[in-house]
Amino acid sequence: YAKAHSGDNYQFFDKDMNTRAVERHFIESHLRQALEAQEFVLHYQPLVNLRSGLITGAEALLRWNSSERGLVFPPDFIAVAEDSGLIVPIGRWVFLEACTQARRWLNAGLQQISIAINISTVEFRRRDFLAGVRSIIEGTGVDPKFLQLEITESALMQDSKAGASILRELKALGLQIALDDFGTGYSSLSYLKQFPIDILKIDKSFVQDINGGNEDGIIVSAVIGMGNSLKKRVIAEGVENVAQLDFLNALQCEEGQGYLFSRPVPADAFAALLSDGISQKLEVARRFAF
Ligand code: C2E
Ligand code: MG
Ligand code: MG
Ligand code: MG
Repeated sequence: YAKAHSGDNYQFFDKDMNTRAVERHFIESHLRQALEAQEFVLHYQPLVNLRSGLITGAEALLRWNSSERGLVFPPDFIAVAEDSGLIVPIGRWVFLEACTQARRWLNAGLQQISIAINISTVEFRRRDFLAGVRSIIEGTGVDPKFLQLEITESALMQDSKAGASILRELKALGLQIALDDFGTGYSSLSYLKQFPIDILKIDKSFVQDINGGNEDGIIVSAVIGMGNSLKKRVIAEGVENVAQLDFLNALQCEEGQGYLFSRPVPADAFAALLSDGISQKLEVARRFAF
């Protein structure tokens, strides 16, 4: 197709493809050593009760502290990790590290909060996934009721029978299940009936432009209403300003997460947030809302 175009077009297209292939190759080859070189780190973003401003949990978010590139964010390496299978050992590290951190906070006498961990569809579908979860829970002694696994609709799509059975086993262990990025996948509302899901996370793309009567606002309002009626916890992602917060509060959305409260931060900074609380910051944000 590129050849059909003449001159500059062809050149630019070709160069762009080449750059991307080189970038991908760089990431994959360095990702292989990143685990051993201990270049991964988890940052934590608070989940917040929207009425009280109190922290209800943390989402663990992976960062790659590359010796050559500095801090690299998931959108730049998760897909490569999934395609190469590296997501499996990386995901196991994430799970172990998050559980270990939960123990550290508990041992330090901090309030026990739940930790949300993102699980790739590639990990979820593996036969040894459950065994891995079990052994890390046993090894770290973390109470499973404080763990939330975030999966996306794609994990449940292909083999829904197998998916349902894994979710049931996770529930039997005592973990909570969240459907992440809700509304962006091939959402089928029947998932909510078919699978034991505790939490709906409304994708940030819907939250970004909510105001009064526009389409995103209507969708968010419907999801919150449905989630509340089905007795699920509903969490809005990507809350960046007070107008969004007020809109969500008016619709009785219980929980949210977003830059308005805090960006994802290293474990130490998160512990400081836990002891300081967030409500104070919220008050400040409100005062500037005019
Ligand atoms: P996600 O699970 O939907 O996580 C939320 C993403 O939204 C995070 O991006 C977070 O930094 C960002 N975010 C939070 N609040 C705001 C806000 O107010 N505005 C905006 N614009 N963004 C906000 P991040 O950390 O870059 O992660 C991106 C995605 O990568 C995650 O989306 C998740 O799907 C994936 N990911 C992150 N960590 C892991 C991991 O440990 N394992 C796996 N398999 N995937 C991960
Ligand atoms: Mg998530
Ligand atoms: Mg996710
Ligand atoms: Mg999400």
